[in-house]
Amino acid sequence: MKLLITRPMPPAVQARARADFDAEIRGKTTFLTQEEILRALTEFDVVVPTLGDQFSAEIFAQVPEPRCKLLANFGVGYNHIDVDAAHAAGVAVTNTPGAVTDATADIAMTLLLTTARRAGEGERLVRSGRWQGWHPTQMLGHHVTGKKVGIVGMGRIGQAIARRCHFGFGMTVSYQSRNPKQLEFPAEYISDLSVLASAVDFLVIAVPGGAETRHLVNAQVLTSMNPTGIVINIARGEVVDEAALITALQTGQIAGAGLDVYEFEPKVPQALCAMENVTLLPHLGTATEEVRTDMGHMALDNVAAFMAGRSLPNPV
Ligand code: NAP
Repeated sequence: MKLLITRPMPPAVQARARADFDAEIRGKTTFLTQEEILRALTEFDVVVPTLGDQFSAEIFAQVPEPRCKLLANFGVGYNHIDVDAAHAAGVAVTNTPGAVTDATADIAMTLLLTTARRAGEGERLVRSGRWQGWHPTQMLGHHVTGKKVGIVGMGRIGQAIARRCHFGFGMTVSYQSRNPKQLEFPAEYISDLSVLASAVDFLVIAVPGGAETRHLVNAQVLTSMNPTGIVINIARGEVVDEAALITALQTGQIAGAGLDVYEFEPKVPQALCAMENVTLLPHLGTATEEVRTDMGHMALDNVAAFMAGRSLPNPV
């Protein structure tokens, strides 16, 4: 069986793929082109795709009977794959849940602290050589300890963020998700997103992307926030209406934003780059050697199970 891995992987993952499978590892770090996606579906039995590789309904319509029978996605988020269209074409889809949880929660806290405490702006000031020394009213930011956080999407990552906020920073946790959760720490379920937004200092987004959550955080939700409120998005860019976010920031409806993901990634609007109260990261959620290695092994575990005819460990 022929395996295609669509990006270079950490060394241990590449070594295992080459040792255990007839693997082609694409050398480029860019998203697959349409031609490459068609080749992936027609010339390989299994593909390990990742973020940005658009396995859309239109692509499956062009290849109704693909040779490929498994898309073992590298990553927990799979909004770049039309799962219904894949299934209809006889292609199974798996992902890598769990492996990504702590690292992504850590990046959420990085963004929350960096934005609240103006760390990016401060770093830029020091590097510019313009810093004139400490004084009592220099660069006053937003206090974090003991504040209120609202988590949108209380799944694996949402809960890991909530734990850090509750146990680490003594914060009051509220959340929204499709269903209320049994949690081992106090957290109030607020089913209305605008009500949640109006009640918190930090609104942290941790829902999956896709049609169901597109622009979940829209102008109405942003208008509900306090002028001291800060939005953190580690989920998918499209969950936030980016134009509405820019307006909310420019008009002072909210105080800041910390973003790991963007609506038209990797395009980042100049308006966001121009604002000092916005922290911008290049989708670093899972970017550690250990986590990317774990993710790769998890994807290959699904490949191995498929090739051995066993049930898939992480089907979606
Ligand atoms: P998860 O365990 O499936 O949790 C998703 C949560 O979102 C669940 O609590 C779910 O609610 C909630 N949800 C789903 N649809 C919703 C809707 N329409 N309205 C409100 N809540 C909704 O997933 P996870 O492992 O935490 O990952 C979450 C997402 O984070 C991934 O899908 C991925 O896109 C993103 N992510 C980003 C990075 C990064 O590098 N920045 C890294 C990893 C993951 P119920 O539980 O009630 O169904």
